[in-house]
Amino acid sequence: MKIDILTLFPEMFSPLETSIMGRAKKDGKIEINVINIRDYSTDKHKKCDDYTFGGGPGMLMMPQPIYDAVTAIEGYEKAHKIYMSPKGRVFSQGLSRQYAKNYDHLIILCGHYEGVDQRIIDLLIDEEISIGDYVLTGGELPAMVVVDAISRHIEGVLHSSD
Ligand code: SAM
Repeated sequence: MKIDILTLFPEMFSPLETSIMGRAKKDGKIEINVINIRDYSTDKHKKCDDYTFGGGPGMLMMPQPIYDAVTAIEGYEKAHKIYMSPKGRVFSQGLSRQYAKNYDHLIILCGHYEGVDQRIIDLLIDEEISIGDYVLTGGELPAMVVVDAISRHIEGVLHSSD
């Protein structure tokens, strides 16, 4: 399975380099690419957040860098595209099994601040997934939880060679 993770904080993903996940990646059982959304900003200061149009509190992640980052991924049209969201469908062991069985390419978008511009969800996202009934500061920890749980159903991951 190939998993592309889009984030503003790629440095948070070092846990995926260790233990069972790290070994599975090294052995080619699972391909995980962490993509820095900021690399796709056309703003001269690489700005990726903006005030909400309605004037509400907090900042939203701007649509342009996310749109360009997702559409630059080869095969993004056919991939199952998930947005980590506290409002989403609650993730479970059953869902992790279904994902491992039904999809060979996942794209996971991690929100930050007050989340992402709704147009991105409407245009690109197939499903919103929550890891539980609480609000975290970003989608990075949730994305790692989802990737870890899915990977355990992929053949050879748990018994990958040393
Ligand atoms: N008011 C925003 C909302 O309701 O979406 C809260 C945004 S939260 C502070 C920032 C980001 O963290 C979200 O965009 C989402 O990606 C992630 N996040 C927070 N809690 C989460 C949860 N329980 N499950 C999955 N993602 C979560």
